[in-house]
Amino acid sequence: MTNIPPEIQPYKRTAWKPITTDGDGALTASKFAGKPWLGKHEKWPKCPCCQEPLQFFLQLNLNQLPEALQNEFGSGILQMFYCTNIDTLCDVDYEGWEAFSDVHFLRIIQPEGEAQDVEIPKTQDFFPPKLIVDWQQLEDYPNSEEASEFGIELNDELYEDNFPIEGDKLAGWPLWIQGIEYPNCPICGETMRLVFQVDSEDNLPFMFGDAGCGYITQCKDHKNIVAFAWACG
Ligand SMILES: [Zn+2]
Ligand SMILES: [Zn+2]
Repeated sequence: MTNIPPEIQPYKRTAWKPITTDGDGALTASKFAGKPWLGKHEKWPKCPCCQEPLQFFLQLNLNQLPEALQNEFGSGILQMFYCTNIDTLCDVDYEGWEAFSDVHFLRIIQPEGEAQDVEIPKTQDFFPPKLIVDWQQLEDYPNSEEASEFGIELNDELYEDNFPIEGDKLAGWPLWIQGIEYPNCPICGETMRLVFQVDSEDNLPFMFGDAGCGYITQCKDHKNIVAFAWACG
């Protein structure tokens, strides 16, 4: 059991780790890869660089998150797609590590119209689907750099080995690999907050750079503004 320094305890947040099973679920389910919810006449999102279908990373049904997060991130389905085409290195040309890069496609869709009987494109290797069946609730704390912004100096290696929690997780504190990199909302300029951390090689067989970590963020006031960025050491 890690000792939580008392001065950092007021900054405790709850994070949830997805519990997954292999295989796909309903079109509206929270999941990694598999079939996203798409409207009847929508096309699978394409990369503006290579024109190939984007890799579907994940979707979260915001109406079915843990009780404590009901309405926190809005309603509908948050989806993330990203170009992983290794022949063209689109993410290098389009700086895929940056928030709002054109080789990402993120949105919150309201699954109200008729859904499409989705066919997964066969043009590249798509990740095997994993259905999120439950959430494991955990305590999470900020890293020492964020703590220092609150005037707290942490010098506890055991703490820093354990927090922020690594791997894929919902909410909590970001495991920053480089500096603190919350994007700003393009509408109001406010700092966006973490919705979901997408780590390398956790639920998805993908590595961001050299064991990097990715972050889906959202503006608290403009919930349709969602972004993805990643960093590596
Ligand atoms: Zn591409
Ligand atoms: Zn905003």
